[in-house]
Amino acid sequence: MAGEESVKTPAPPCTYCGRDTEPVTGKKVYPHIQHEDLWPGKYWLCEYCNAYVGCHADSDIPLGTPANGELRRARTKAHKQFDKLWRGANKSPRKQIYESLAHHLGIPTEKCHIGMFDLKQCKMTEDWSRDKALLRQVRSIKKNHEPRRGRKRKQW
Ligand SMILES: [Zn+2]
Repeated sequence: MAGEESVKTPAPPCTYCGRDTEPVTGKKVYPHIQHEDLWPGKYWLCEYCNAYVGCHADSDIPLGTPANGELRRARTKAHKQFDKLWRGANKSPRKQIYESLAHHLGIPTEKCHIGMFDLKQCKMTEDWSRDKALLRQVRSIKKNHEPRRGRKRKQW
């Protein structure tokens, strides 16, 4: 169990009730999953709302805002779609994708972190990412089937 003195970051308030969250380890958040990667991790937890957020590696700095089960699932889904845009085929630079998403959501780029999104923003991110990925697929298919530029088709 981490002692009080090891916590340097002020507790992020719970997204739902506004109470200060408690610093806990993964053992508290995932009591039924005994996993060496999960248990030592640090989390900020609101037990009243079952809302929590993980921390950046080896720190007490939260990765975003505390989220309940519904919001955690929504963020995971949004991340899954969004990450395809800069990880998969036809990818764009990550920074550029974040800038486009921020523009779409109407928020500043520096505030554009899925770990801070609410349910509505997660849904918007998921839909936007899916549309963008589809559009790219269509474009890349078209590109591969277009006749090369500068070369005239044979006139029969
Ligand atoms: Zn709470």
